[in-house]
Amino acid sequence: MGKMLEGKVAIITGASRGIGRAIALRFAAEGAAIAFTHVTPSPAAEATEQEIAALGVKVKRYVADAADYAATESLVADVVKEFGRVDILVNNAGITRDGLLMRMSESQWNEVITANLKSAFNFCRVCVPVMMRQRCGSIINLSSVVGVHGNAGQCNYAASKAGIIGLTKSIAAEVGSRGIRANVIAPGFINTDMTGKLSEELRAEWAKQIPLRRAGEGDDVAGAALFLASDLAAYVTGQVLQVDGGMAM
Ligand code: NAD
Repeated sequence: MGKMLEGKVAIITGASRGIGRAIALRFAAEGAAIAFTHVTPSPAAEATEQEIAALGVKVKRYVADAADYAATESLVADVVKEFGRVDILVNNAGITRDGLLMRMSESQWNEVITANLKSAFNFCRVCVPVMMRQRCGSIINLSSVVGVHGNAGQCNYAASKAGIIGLTKSIAAEVGSRGIRANVIAPGFINTDMTGKLSEELRAEWAKQIPLRRAGEGDDVAGAALFLASDLAAYVTGQVLQVDGGMAM
């Protein structure tokens, strides 16, 4: 079998580490050229870039705040200039600033909504015209099971992730006729820096609630992203795919 994403160009936000990195490497292994972003320069980001290049595909790394609209416009313009097209967009950049509602500050709310939800709007807004001209494209936006079910202590994060679902379904309805698909992945508990901050007790507590009895890995999410990016999902749009070991049914 040939590679699944041969000749495709993918933009992945927040891919220096964690889930975004796993998706970038998986797409690259299937032949896609990769443009990826992250917010602060780090050796990990450079290592990710080198690992992608070692898979024999073109790669370009951008240090940019995905929540900055003007920066997103110039970034995507550069991708089109350098790579010629945008076939796949993965809005993966995201942060948490957890706290109970009663203690949540306005800045905690604003930071999370901006980094998680506005960033996805920015990239969709700027990439969709490019995809329309091509008459094809696959958008994959990262939500969370928390965006579907809510979670005490994460009202800002859950709202941003529920917003991702509304954003994605609306885009799917608007641009399906132009050959563009838009879907959501809602991961459960995935081992990354984001969840690494949690205590051992809390992690064990979570694991008990997961029918598959383990935390997920970045690669578990990357497999689902590959499906949604590829022609295997040619008739799939506007969907929310939970990748959570059965945690939130
Ligand atoms: P992570 O913290 O390990 O990595 C986050 C990445 O996003 C980094 O590359 C960081 O540089 C980038 N980033 C953050 N803010 C950014 C900004 N404003 N602009 C550009 N890049 C930015 O996180 P992760 O666990 O890999 O999570 C990836 C995505 O998956 C997030 O959207 C997260 O909400 C979602 N998610 C994660 C889990 C989990 O259990 N880890 C569960 C559900 C959903």
